[in-house]
Amino acid sequence: MKSEIIAVGSEMLTPYRQDTNSLDLTEKLNEIGVTVAFKTIVGDRRKDLVNAIRTALGRTDILIVMGGLGPTEDDLTREAMAEALSLKLRRDATQMAALHVRAATWRMPMAENNLKQADVMEGATVLPNPNGSAPGQWLDTLFEGYRKLIMLIPGPPSECKPLFEAECLPRLRAALPPRFIAKRTLKAAMIPESQADKLLAPIYTTYKDVETTILAHAGDIQLSLLCSKNSQEAAQQRVDELASRMEEALDDWLYSSEGDSLEQIVLYYLGLRQATLAVAESCTGGLVAQRITSVPGSSRSFLGGAVVYSNQLKIAFANVPPDLIAQHGAVSEEVAKALAAGIRQRTGATIGLGITGIAGPTGGTDAKPVGLVYIGVSDAQKTDVLEHTFRGPRARVREWAAQQALDLIRRRLM
Ligand code: ATP
Ligand code: MG
Repeated sequence: MKSEIIAVGSEMLTPYRQDTNSLDLTEKLNEIGVTVAFKTIVGDRRKDLVNAIRTALGRTDILIVMGGLGPTEDDLTREAMAEALSLKLRRDATQMAALHVRAATWRMPMAENNLKQADVMEGATVLPNPNGSAPGQWLDTLFEGYRKLIMLIPGPPSECKPLFEAECLPRLRAALPPRFIAKRTLKAAMIPESQADKLLAPIYTTYKDVETTILAHAGDIQLSLLCSKNSQEAAQQRVDELASRMEEALDDWLYSSEGDSLEQIVLYYLGLRQATLAVAESCTGGLVAQRITSVPGSSRSFLGGAVVYSNQLKIAFANVPPDLIAQHGAVSEEVAKALAAGIRQRTGATIGLGITGIAGPTGGTDAKPVGLVYIGVSDAQKTDVLEHTFRGPRARVREWAAQQALDLIRRRLM
């Protein structure tokens, strides 16, 4: 079943506010087997709103409109919906009384325009809003001969989410055929996005009944699979089947089949091997340590490390021989190796990580361009170094370098 969400408010058409409510609603809708086909943001203009509502009703069975239910001049959602459906608004006596009580409780004068919050569309059910003054509305109606389920809900996030969960979800569940949802999240590291698509598209496009979404960020690819069926087993079976075919295609790029983060997986392997990790980070400034320590319980395997930004500290904290820096420069394969081996020796860790690079935007040369990073991984057997030039601005280079470093450790432990 498909749905559509309209967020009403001119503020969300400025650079300063975003529609975040719809993310929460989408999550809840997906859980009952309803997908979102369109989202629209409309400013506080009645004509635009009527237009958007009519367009939406022409292509969707479930329409959620949020925002613009308040008492002010620019709150026009009720009026626009009534116009789009050619319905009358009636002033609901119970709601009027509730507004008077509310005003009295807060010792506020009751302005006339406040009362429009008691306007209810013909045939609609009032949805109580314990967290605010404007109630929501539920309408099960016909539009051009087709059944439509329509909800009006208040815009403030603290009202929207609880009202939707308490009042709309149960009604939707009751109105829709029972659906069961199965979900899986696969994650892969450092696979180029185009490569991932080349490998995966031929597979997932044949599973029309499983919704597959790909999220990519700084060397991290997340594949979310979602299937809704009339039995849990049927849904699970389809998702698992697709997941295992994707796992096979992703091979060792895949690091999790259950949605874990890369740092969680690194820690999992460290625990499994009873190994410990220490890091000496230059251009990433502690990003790797930050990610590792964001996982609860990381102290079991992560000893710590040093941010060795200056040559001085590379020498003092990670035992890098000064000659090495003089001879090859701080950003070099040799220094990355020395950082990894040095921090391992200094700390007694099983594995040492060393990162040195040029995050930019300045400091690059022809021989050593911005984005050039060396990552060393050292254990008792050997010390390897990976050289890579990451493209993009400073923040991106740092994020990619941290991701690459974690992935190298994962591969060493796998
Ligand atoms: P009120 O009674 O407060 O006027 P309302 O239903 O009219 O309620 P709006 O006036 O549209 O709601 O919005 C109230 C507040 O909620 C504003 O600060 C607005 O930015 C925020 N808001 C509205 N819609 C959304 C949304 N889709 N996502 C996030 N915030 C929103
Ligand atoms: Mg308002």
